[in-house]
Amino acid sequence: MDKEHRQFVSDILKDKRHSRVFAAKVRELDDLYCEDKQNISEVCTRKFDRLDVPEWYHNFIIDFFKKVAGETQKKLNKFRFYHSFCLGKVDDRNTLDIENAKSVPIGTLLGEPHGKTARRQFFLCPLHDESTASFCWYKKQNKWWCFGCGIGGDVIDLYQKLYDVEFKEAIKYLTT
Ligand SMILES: [Zn+2]
Repeated sequence: MDKEHRQFVSDILKDKRHSRVFAAKVRELDDLYCEDKQNISEVCTRKFDRLDVPEWYHNFIIDFFKKVAGETQKKLNKFRFYHSFCLGKVDDRNTLDIENAKSVPIGTLLGEPHGKTARRQFFLCPLHDESTASFCWYKKQNKWWCFGCGIGGDVIDLYQKLYDVEFKEAIKYLTT
């Protein structure tokens, strides 16, 4: 959490009633996130029902919804954290920041996928030169493995390797 957020949280903590504001925000974002996920699955279903609509259009719409859903999820995590903090349920900020950082989808650090299944996406490895995609993102676990480099890890490990930064710095960048 950066300095500005710390200040914000400590101001909020002076009045416990604010935890209600966070609770409301969490509920609101939760609803939004569910709605976005619903929209994505509806568009996916329609893709197979109505083949007369061009494929690029469906992909465009799905990508758009995914992006919106991803942003909502990020906001939701943040407000959940503030809410727990207000209720005094979290005393180690760093622990939660690590969890928040780990939930950032690995795909957001990469370019376009070169192949995908429901559970995995393949990319050109950002850590070594190659022309066939051997970098695999396991979406559900949000872990990666490069069959070329023979190494893998979570999103924090990848960020550290990509930008050559310390663990703490990676957490900071991933959560802001
Ligand atoms: Zn590699």
